[in-house]
Amino acid sequence: MQYEAVIGLEVHAQLRTKSKIFCGCSTKFGALPNTQTCPVCLGLPGVLPVLNREAVNFAVKMAIATHSRIAPYCRFARKNYFYPDLPKGYQISQYELPLSTGGYVDIESDGAVKKIGLTRIHMEEDAGKSIHDGSADSSLVDLNRAGVPLIEIVSEPDIRTPEDAVSYLRKLREIVRYLEICDGNMEEGSFRCDANVSIRPAGEKAFGIKAEVKNMNSFRFVQKALEYEIERQTGVVEGGGKIVQETRLWDSGRGITVSMRSKEEAHDYRYFPEPDLVPLEVSEEWQEEIRKKLPELPDDKRVRFVHDYDIPEYDAQVLTSSKALANFFEECVKNYRSPKAVSNWIMGDLLRELKLSGTDIDDCLIRPQHLAGMIKMIDEGVISGKIAKTIFEEMYKTGKDPEAIVKDKGLVQVSDEGEIERLIAQVISENPKEVEAFRGGKDKLIGFFVGQVMKLSGGKANPAKVNEMLVKKLSR
Ligand SMILES: [Zn+2]
Repeated sequence: MQYEAVIGLEVHAQLRTKSKIFCGCSTKFGALPNTQTCPVCLGLPGVLPVLNREAVNFAVKMAIATHSRIAPYCRFARKNYFYPDLPKGYQISQYELPLSTGGYVDIESDGAVKKIGLTRIHMEEDAGKSIHDGSADSSLVDLNRAGVPLIEIVSEPDIRTPEDAVSYLRKLREIVRYLEICDGNMEEGSFRCDANVSIRPAGEKAFGIKAEVKNMNSFRFVQKALEYEIERQTGVVEGGGKIVQETRLWDSGRGITVSMRSKEEAHDYRYFPEPDLVPLEVSEEWQEEIRKKLPELPDDKRVRFVHDYDIPEYDAQVLTSSKALANFFEECVKNYRSPKAVSNWIMGDLLRELKLSGTDIDDCLIRPQHLAGMIKMIDEGVISGKIAKTIFEEMYKTGKDPEAIVKDKGLVQVSDEGEIERLIAQVISENPKEVEAFRGGKDKLIGFFVGQVMKLSGGKANPAKVNEMLVKKLSR
């Protein structure tokens, strides 16, 4: 029997506010343990939380960017559970009145656009972090992260394949980064997801029993964990067994999911309205103020790039994968309007170098006007495409102006006919056998001659000119 997977994702995105959601403590990553805490985020008795307006702005941005309905009135709730990294014994979250409901995100699925519905986006605070550093009889707790603002984005069970799940996650991450509300860093845990996975016979409407998979901290792991889980569930069902509702952890070392707790042990959170916070009212005016300041979103940018610069859809897709990269491209084109050539250099050499050196485009030394200037020099015949590769490497390492590099290294292309003629004469006199063979009809040898002349010139001769002049000289 053919089975189909039903996948829903819960994504937690850490909002990039300077201070925590209910107090003024810093949210900076990497500080010494417990140095960014106060009585409010530690949950000491008698303290009162105060909602961070900027966190609300960020959450509303996300709701608008995903076409969600923003509740004019929403409320925070206490989600009660006991865990060592949660000093209050409850997490302030939202429950029956979340910030927004509905909405969707478009993804590419098998060459078509597919809408993934959003059930809700709500705000909540993060918990701390337990550190099990190997000593057998103790654990440590770092509460710097307690009270850091999060949004939880819950999708409808609209996803059918691990590939689509990853596309959806990538799209969400792209949006939060464009909005500059979350850095999207999965390794540091500022963008993380849990998945609900079930299978059902293909064509069936009813859902199967689902398992929740946690602890996937890269796109690759999400893909692998979902593939594994679908295969595991299919195996259980085909073997005549029953799926149990449970929470499972992805074990990246072993490449499998393992059971963490079953439904019987699942938490009863005993939600109730947070008595220390007034309900949150996001008025039409407030929404409008945010809407006006919203940046161009990736999907819109993609369409505009194809239209304005006449580049292929694929190029637009790559170039808009981050706002910084898109800006870099547009800056280049502003300096020299040759979009396809610019795109080729960015998608090829630049992205490869960035990947090799593990550098972010923001920290790249090459200035857009320099890359544009280099491409212009190729077009004007000042340098050859081959020399450009050398110049590009130098620009990447030093951030120098390409014109300065050409001057310093004497890399100007040789287009002077007298000079090329001299080189050709030398090559012809040094290779009499090949000359004879060529004149005897072995046309393919032209490549050999061009290569010899280029070599002799140290790669600086203009190849088009060399080719043209060689043909003339040799056919005599
Ligand atoms: Zn605090």
